[in-house]
Amino acid sequence: MSVPTSERYAEMLDAALAGGYAYPAVNVTSSQTLNAALRGFVDARSDGIVQVTPAAAGYLSGAASDPVRGARALAAFAHELADGYAISVALHTDHCPPEQVDGFLRPLMTESRRRRGRGEPPLFNSHMFDGSSLPLEENLSLSSELLGECAAAGVVLELEVGTVGGEEDGLGADDVSSERLYTTNDDLLRVAEVLGTGERGGYLLAATFGNVHGVYAPEHVKLRPHILADGQEALAAAWPGARFRYVFHGASGSSQEDLRAAIRHGVVKVNIDSDTQYALTRAIADHVLTNYAGVIKVDGGVGSKQAYDPRAWGAKAEAAMATRIAEACELLGSAGHSLTG
Ligand SMILES: [Zn+2]
Repeated sequence: MSVPTSERYAEMLDAALAGGYAYPAVNVTSSQTLNAALRGFVDARSDGIVQVTPAAAGYLSGAASDPVRGARALAAFAHELADGYAISVALHTDHCPPEQVDGFLRPLMTESRRRRGRGEPPLFNSHMFDGSSLPLEENLSLSSELLGECAAAGVVLELEVGTVGGEEDGLGADDVSSERLYTTNDDLLRVAEVLGTGERGGYLLAATFGNVHGVYAPEHVKLRPHILADGQEALAAAWPGARFRYVFHGASGSSQEDLRAAIRHGVVKVNIDSDTQYALTRAIADHVLTNYAGVIKVDGGVGSKQAYDPRAWGAKAEAAMATRIAEACELLGSAGHSLTG
């Protein structure tokens, strides 16, 4: 595994777009879940992406309660483990709202710019700025500013137009009107007008098409992947040869048909959180329930160190999450696709 250089990450995204597959982007909140993600990608012989939200970065920083330090610590851990595997795993930060741009995104980009000056890969390969709470023009104006800063740091910007429903890490969009859950062609063309089509720096576009964070009953989510296809058509009509690189948020619980259609229409990154959280916690629950008398000191007993050693349940949890990630690689088509392997 290696954290890719800026150039290699661009190649990874190009290869997915040209090859009709997408990378799982796995949310992590600890060294354990990071290792689970790396293991899942290795098992599937797939390049991939791991990501951290600002809230998860704060959690990672422990008592320091400082998302920037938590994000830096996670990145350091990942860069340190970079040698020894034959795949690339890119590092990404997820949903950053406008009010955290100065306190979270910009310090991380500054570090990547310094690293670029020393000929090293960026600290994070890409950052998401989530301006979906702003009016479109404000969202695009700030996105455009950040695109320039990202490009100078060798980093890819992810932006969102429209709004992903549901709730993730305390950022909720439950009260959003339903038409905002669907991006329009006009919105998508406006993105290309303001941000260009790659010449000002590469970007990833979270264009919403009815997606909702979290797991819902299938009938609750009305995905319209054709919105993505319509956007590509409109883009190519205005800028021949140009294609959006879409990101699919809230894929948990989606049908395989919808997932495949979205990837066919240019999705290159599919965020995965709820499903892998559940796989991990399910394995821990299984360990605790089947080893109850060892994990717990029942009625004055001494328990069993083999059962309550955090590595006992941690290893099972890591393996279960890795298995779920390898399955995602198969489903999204990235399995067997490694530019380094
Ligand atoms: Zn999301």
